[in-house]
Amino acid sequence: MTVKGLVCRNCGKEYPEAPVSICEECFGPLEVAYDYEKIKEAVSRKTIEGGPASLWRYKALLPVRGAPVDLGAGFTPLRKAENLGRALGLKELYIKNDSLNPTFSFKDRVVSVAVSKALEFSFSTVGCASTGNLASAVAAHGAKAGLTSYIFIPADLNPAKVAQALAYGPNLVCVDGNYDQVNRLCTEIAGYRNWAFVNINLRPYYAEGSKTLGFEVAEQLGWEVPDRVVVPAGSGSLLTKIWKGFRELNDVGILDGGPPRLTAAQSAGCSPITTAWRSGGDIRPVKPDTIEKSLAIGNPADGRYTLKALKETGGTAGSATDGEIIEGIKLLARTEGIFTETAGGVVIGTLKNLVERGEIDPDERTVAYITGCGLKTQDVLRQALPEPVYIRSDLGAFEAAIGHAHRQVAGEVA
Ligand SMILES: *Cc1c(COP(=O)(O)O)cnc(C)c1O
Ligand SMILES: [Zn+2]
Repeated sequence: MTVKGLVCRNCGKEYPEAPVSICEECFGPLEVAYDYEKIKEAVSRKTIEGGPASLWRYKALLPVRGAPVDLGAGFTPLRKAENLGRALGLKELYIKNDSLNPTFSFKDRVVSVAVSKALEFSFSTVGCASTGNLASAVAAHGAKAGLTSYIFIPADLNPAKVAQALAYGPNLVCVDGNYDQVNRLCTEIAGYRNWAFVNINLRPYYAEGSKTLGFEVAEQLGWEVPDRVVVPAGSGSLLTKIWKGFRELNDVGILDGGPPRLTAAQSAGCSPITTAWRSGGDIRPVKPDTIEKSLAIGNPADGRYTLKALKETGGTAGSATDGEIIEGIKLLARTEGIFTETAGGVVIGTLKNLVERGEIDPDERTVAYITGCGLKTQDVLRQALPEPVYIRSDLGAFEAAIGHAHRQVAGEVA
């Protein structure tokens, strides 16, 4: 075991491992600290490549001791996206398709780590405050581990996300309020109930799971660092941990070179990080007003650290309007055959905007993270798509409906 304990990201005070996330001295966020010398002795490219085809191939760099709660999250495809690259004017674009996880979003990575940790700490109930995808990830891993789960979501969530979460059999609590209000309520509950809230009292461990999205991209590029990664940002946790992941690979001697240029993508209707980046000021909390729910966090817990990551890596931040999110979803589906949810639309829309603004060089080797599946948010997409052709079940009806186009094709063949 290579974990030293927890350390405050703000003042550096050290703590033993426990289900806590806030520094007693300065109220800063805690994170997991490792003994990198020990890890260096134990891991190599070879040991990782010989591991399972899941995020647990990177176990030496994760804070879990025993057998993890494993639904097979991670090791999702990284695909070169020539068609989309051509459409956007980028020479070397890749899609990291993390919608292909057990519950169809990247949240399975963080939850696999957090629920494993909940068992280590002997909790019998897990919980979360969710923007949507965390709900299913916690409910599914909780079910697999035989734990009771309490899932809190904003009541106005996409119907498909509610149905999916309910299928795993959790206690689902729909709160009349936005995510920031749900999160505040859960923080109060975590204060007196002995529950493991994966993104509250287990947050330091939970967040570590996101590093694997950095590890995998490096490994799948043949142990190389791309020039730029485009990351959807809600709380900013995913982005800051991808940053940490690339730095760690360098620290343990697996990778040469520093992290890529980190680029944050947000919905224009909830963009506190992008707004702060562009104004050069501090994060100012906002009230979300957007079709994009997965990233709709008005007061991002990791906002400050996200800005630091963008600055230190020479990255940037951008946003996409609701219309651009829909167009982004359609563009990715029509060029690469990948159907993503609204968060993926934010990534593609933002990428397009940043290329057009000249902030991304066409020659950069760029990786775009697609973090959730399109079936989760079909409700917001449906009215933006054309109507299919409806017919009776006979040839005459078919010919009457689309016979003109059909005859053209037949003519060419003859
Ligand atoms: C949660 C989530 C993210 C990232 O959220 P952070 O709070 O910034 O870590 C990205 N995409 C999807 C689809 C998500 O559900
Ligand atoms: Zn502190």
